[in-house]
Amino acid sequence: MAERLRGRRAVAQRLRRLQAEPLCRDCAAKGAVREASVPDHILPLTQGGSDEDSNIRCLCADCHQARTAEQFGHRRTIPTGRDGWPIG
Ligand SMILES: [Zn+2]
Repeated sequence: MAERLRGRRAVAQRLRRLQAEPLCRDCAAKGAVREASVPDHILPLTQGGSDEDSNIRCLCADCHQARTAEQFGHRRTIPTGRDGWPIG
């Protein structure tokens, strides 16, 4: 399990990643040019992703928010009945 960097080292790593990829990857995919401000884990650490550069993409704040919502916010919950079995 990768240890999350904290403090100065984390800040330095964040800056290094943003310098390596200064433009938002998602915006670039849509043909837009926007400055990236957040190095994002492609596969979240909580889902077994690594903290290596290969698992990092730099995004602008808007895209990062959208991606985070995608990964964590809209987790599909299956309604279950009183007996614990899914309904429908
Ligand atoms: Zn973007």
